[in-house]
Amino acid sequence: MSNGKRTRNVFDPGSDKPFKLSRTKLENFLKCPRCFYLDRRLGLKSLPQLPFTLNIAVDHLLKKEFDVYRAKGKPHPLMVEHGIKAVPFQHPNLDIWRENFQGIQYHHQPTNLLLSGAVDDIWQTPDGQIIIVDYKATSTEKEITLDDAWKGGYKRQMEIYQWLFRQNGFKVQKTGYFVYVNASKSRPTFDGHLHFDIHLLPHKGDDSWVESTVVAAKACLMSNLLPEPKAECEFCAYRKHSLEYEK
Ligand code: SF4
Repeated sequence: MSNGKRTRNVFDPGSDKPFKLSRTKLENFLKCPRCFYLDRRLGLKSLPQLPFTLNIAVDHLLKKEFDVYRAKGKPHPLMVEHGIKAVPFQHPNLDIWRENFQGIQYHHQPTNLLLSGAVDDIWQTPDGQIIIVDYKATSTEKEITLDDAWKGGYKRQMEIYQWLFRQNGFKVQKTGYFVYVNASKSRPTFDGHLHFDIHLLPHKGDDSWVESTVVAAKACLMSNLLPEPKAECEFCAYRKHSLEYEK
């Protein structure tokens, strides 16, 4: 490890063992195939990610709150308020599907990739369809929407989950929901409490891009060529310009 390289979770083109790829890594491939290749094929250690501890705490509390209604088999008041005819889904594998290093998994035979993703929540309609639900936390004075360009990643996240559950034989409703909580900064005092507004944002998912992306990610892993850096990436540009000063 001293040379900055990993040996775990590194793709070996000669191996016939299924290679695990999380939905986060697939998203990394979409953002920059070069970074993806450096990480998954060459085993370059990526920079450590600082944990978003406040967001993790909010996710945890939301899960606990929805679990109360799951145990009762009743809709959460937010679902009633928005006219959603469903209840939090009860399933023996739910905790596994929510677990970061396990999640819902699917072995995609044509590529021999084992795709996975950890969901925040699942609801179920009376006719047996499941609804993918994702929790998001922020603090902004702006209107809460899914319209910002960078939120395309949120939509793809939901669509991958929809795809994974469909591959596992579930009937998945096209519309999923983001439970989006916004911490207010306009209160006169802190008093050791954050106050959140809760928003429910629907997203009509289209998972038609997932399969071709999985195939493209596999082709990238099989290649012996390092993909080009993204022209617009400021980190690679910074590195390139900084090297010019070393000459
Ligand atoms: S272009 Fe950016 S994202 Fe891609 S390899 Fe370079 S630093 Fe990573």
